[in-house]
Amino acid sequence: MREAWCWDREEGSKVRCRLCIISCSINKGRSGRCGVRRNVDGSLYSLTYGRLSSFSTDFVEKIPLYHFYPNHRFLTVGSVGCNLSCRFCLTWNITQRPVEEVATEVLSPERLVRAARELGCRGIAYTHSEPTLNIEFYREVMDVARRSGLVNALATNGFLTECAFQEISGLLDAVALTIKGSGKVYQNVCGVRYERRHLEWLVDRVREEDVHLELVYVLIPGVNDDAESLREVVGLARRAGSPLIFLRFFPSYKMDDLPSPTDVELERALRTAYQHGVEYAYVENIFEHPGKNTYCPGCRALLVERAGYGIVGWRVKGSSCPSCGRKVPIVGDALLAGSVA
Ligand code: SF4
Repeated sequence: MREAWCWDREEGSKVRCRLCIISCSINKGRSGRCGVRRNVDGSLYSLTYGRLSSFSTDFVEKIPLYHFYPNHRFLTVGSVGCNLSCRFCLTWNITQRPVEEVATEVLSPERLVRAARELGCRGIAYTHSEPTLNIEFYREVMDVARRSGLVNALATNGFLTECAFQEISGLLDAVALTIKGSGKVYQNVCGVRYERRHLEWLVDRVREEDVHLELVYVLIPGVNDDAESLREVVGLARRAGSPLIFLRFFPSYKMDDLPSPTDVELERALRTAYQHGVEYAYVENIFEHPGKNTYCPGCRALLVERAGYGIVGWRVKGSSCPSCGRKVPIVGDALLAGSVA
């Protein structure tokens, strides 16, 4: 256990956690909604400091990030817990179970960074569980990673507060921000109140810090593919000027009886994004589909062709469209066949 960041003492021996906007008031001996921050004798502690439940190396497109060091591999790490309780969570076995029931391994920041380098990764992605809940540990990893020439990518639901964001913003290189849908979806499917203004604030803050941002949306037929839900995410993507990636839903957790979206449903979401001014929109969790490719918003030339999680065609010249010369907003070099990590 490590004393947590971002909390205040309240009357008696209660504490108020200020790491995320849920802002739990926590009695002595109890944990907050996420289950990984506990009031021990009137002080708040992180129960997951240094504890990791999952590691793998993945293409950056799996995080997912499409405009950030394309085709590079990242060490992806997860811990335990989430402040949301989405009924479709793919990683529910580490986010929705009590921390004591999840097998974890303790690793130092130096060991993780060494592993990332040994495995030829371009950076570390903090994901699988809600990474901001493990901020005390991940900040140390980010710091060591940055000093070793690796980049840091955070996949988050965006519920972190300014207090939490300040702790890591200077060490972040990219954020993949997942939006769930309309207010009704947040309430009925994820068990929390939707805070549109907060997400707008976060989008603005990330851009202000010059951190690369992409928006992610798990498309679930009949749950969050309605016009109101799509309007929310498309509006945020436009505000951010960010790519928007629609992830194909797979039946899981408490929504294992729902179907995956069809190609037609995915294409409808893509069209909505394009029609409302998003310049780069994608579908993912699908092996081959034209919607995985990057097209120039100026002349519609095909710029990047993808299959699976990799790149199979690269037509960007320098950092521009070879047909019309329009700049393509991609951060970092692409790792293409023949180049060296
Ligand atoms: S981080 Fe956890 S304990 Fe803190 S406010 Fe959010 S849900 Fe509550």
